[in-house]
Amino acid sequence: MKLEADLHTHTIASGHAYSTFKEMVEAADQKGLKMIAITDHGPNMPGAPDSEFFFNTLIWSRMINGVHVLRGIEANIIDTKGQLDLPDEILDQLDIVLAGFHTGTGYRGSTVEDNTKAMIAALENPRVHIITHPGNPRFPIDFEKVVLAARDCGKALEINNSSFFIRPKSIEFCVRIAELAKEHGVMVAVNSDAHIYYQVGDFSLAMGIIDRAGIEKSQIINSSTEHVRNFLTQHGKNID
Ligand SMILES: [Zn+2]
Ligand SMILES: [Zn+2]
Repeated sequence: MKLEADLHTHTIASGHAYSTFKEMVEAADQKGLKMIAITDHGPNMPGAPDSEFFFNTLIWSRMINGVHVLRGIEANIIDTKGQLDLPDEILDQLDIVLAGFHTGTGYRGSTVEDNTKAMIAALENPRVHIITHPGNPRFPIDFEKVVLAARDCGKALEINNSSFFIRPKSIEFCVRIAELAKEHGVMVAVNSDAHIYYQVGDFSLAMGIIDRAGIEKSQIINSSTEHVRNFLTQHGKNID
């Protein structure tokens, strides 16, 4: 199965990633992708850009060398109310909002109950489209509750290809999430989370989990640009 879009990538602006905007878009083109979302980390991540950076993404061209470029962010979930680390008016200007837990970004929850409540609240936040790496063992959640909330909110849960390199234990958690997503018909996003150009469009390990769970193309929001467009249109976004 070939996916047309990578919806989770970082540039040097994130502070701990290694390639430029231009290199990431060129890599998408070279990998045969039709769409890339540039989703640098939200301001609470040490070394990440401030809100003005995200505001200024308005200057980005929609199409660069035939690749559709989406203005995005990987925002930080900062509390159990689903709040993120960027003002709502700037989130509203972006094409796609990813949200997830990251250490050192202000989130103080420590239990499965806290994490589950916070993630469900983020899913219920109308500005959020995808939850990143819900299988991160550093922030354990009640998988079934989160999967059902994603279904009810029409949001997507991510199977993150980079997690398996930096958080090996996340494999078993992601397998469980994928199984539950299949069972309940929940949308998933399969993303590289590239922090360097040659990782763009690398979905190999994540697709192994997708195939094993029997998830079909129609359930993967980034399988085609048309799917991405329909998904974001449902959430009030115009990406053209
Ligand atoms: Zn992340
Ligand atoms: Zn990321």
